[in-house]
Amino acid sequence: MKKVIIAGGGPTGVTLALMLVQRGIAVTLVEAASDFRRVFRGEGLMPSGLNALSEMRLSEILEKIPYRQLDAWEFILGKKPLFKVDEPIEADTQPCTLVSQPPLLEALILEAQKYNHFEFIQGVAVKDLLKIDNRVTGVKLADGREIAADIVIGADGRNSIIRQRAGLKLERQPTSMDMLWFKLAANPRFLEENIFTAIGDGENAFAVFHGVEAGKLHLGWSLTDSKNTANSSDKTKVEWAQMFASISPSWLAEHFINHAESIEKPIKLSVVVGLCPSWHTPGVLLLGDAAHPMSPIRAQGINVALRDVIVAVNHLVPALLAEAENEEIDRIFSQIQQEREPEIIRIQQLQKEEGRQHELLPKNLFLRKIVFRLARLVNKAIRLSWIQRQKKMRQGVTRVQLEV
Ligand SMILES: Cc1cc2nc3c(=O)[nH]c(=O)nc-3n(C[C@H](O)[C@H](O)[C@H](O)COP(=O)(O)OP(=O)(O)OC[C@H]3O[C@@H](n4cnc5c(N)ncnc54)[C@H](O)[C@@H]3O)c2cc1C
Repeated sequence: MKKVIIAGGGPTGVTLALMLVQRGIAVTLVEAASDFRRVFRGEGLMPSGLNALSEMRLSEILEKIPYRQLDAWEFILGKKPLFKVDEPIEADTQPCTLVSQPPLLEALILEAQKYNHFEFIQGVAVKDLLKIDNRVTGVKLADGREIAADIVIGADGRNSIIRQRAGLKLERQPTSMDMLWFKLAANPRFLEENIFTAIGDGENAFAVFHGVEAGKLHLGWSLTDSKNTANSSDKTKVEWAQMFASISPSWLAEHFINHAESIEKPIKLSVVVGLCPSWHTPGVLLLGDAAHPMSPIRAQGINVALRDVIVAVNHLVPALLAEAENEEIDRIFSQIQQEREPEIIRIQQLQKEEGRQHELLPKNLFLRKIVFRLARLVNKAIRLSWIQRQKKMRQGVTRVQLEV
């Protein structure tokens, strides 16, 4: 039986491990974090990601774990509502759904553990690659263990150690965005209608919504320049509440001020966006963020990662079951990249365009004045254009179906 090592137990690594073991392939999955709950993990799944889970026959598992659907998206500029769009945006699809990743990943691991040929090593990082001649033949773990395998999959996220050790280049998109991720007490309005609310004033911007966890708002604060970043670390809860309130409509501003004490210490997330010109080298294939770190804009990363997994499974399973030669497996790596690359390039372009659109109004006072003066006329057009742009991202760009 061919053996696969997967580095990284995020959405890419865990779903891939389960798909492979279910199809008779031995897998060792290595996850650095000792607890899925310790690492920040995005929650938004778009119709393309929900369809991917359904293709993988995982919808039943999804229904058993905590989730919360988004009811709408709203944009507020200079404390005034710009436009609002209800979910689902397309009549015949599911709404954007927030899914708590830790229970999802745990449930998938439990499923994989039903197979004797699955091994899960948790709480130890992959540190290096083992090589014979020019081919990767396994991994070395941080505790000194060495594990041999026929292929190594790098599913270890945007700062992938597998990518670095395999000498695979990442072409980064110039993006200077970091993010502070806060949690705080929920406001009942978000329970009545869970609106992903994006708020900006030209200088500062944040997005707020009710996460899956009961009673908790999530708030992502954009750190777009070094001044902003440097000043962010020493703010008190009350100062943060005042910052959020200063650009919010009155009902929300009041909530921030009244619940300042509930604001939890933020996690700083550095946003890496890019694409590897090559996703593979003999014996190694990168998938998910390791191959193409995605921007958080419009929640795309998990969705495209799940779609990577389906394409990888379609190609890898027949070859591994047929005990294909190394050269054949390396050719298959190349086919997987070829099949997935067009969608990744397109989605990253769309995310970039979306980011540009969002800077347009906040940064241009003249444009903003026109929009507010001609609100009724202009807002309708802005709203329609926003909807058109989202449709392309939400459904995926290429057709992805599980075939094995
Ligand atoms: C602020 C922010 C918000 C986001 N929100 C969303 C969202 O709502 N929806 C969405 O679709 N996308 C979102 N994304 C993008 C999304 O998080 C990623 O695209 C997605 O998680 C990629 O999945 P992955 O499994 O490839 O990598 P990851 O989720 O990063 O998982 C990689 C795993 O590898 C492990 N690991 C790392 N190094 C090692 C090592 N050396 N050895 C072993 N294990 C290792 C990590 O602990 C981790 O568990 C967001 C991104 C950011 C920055």
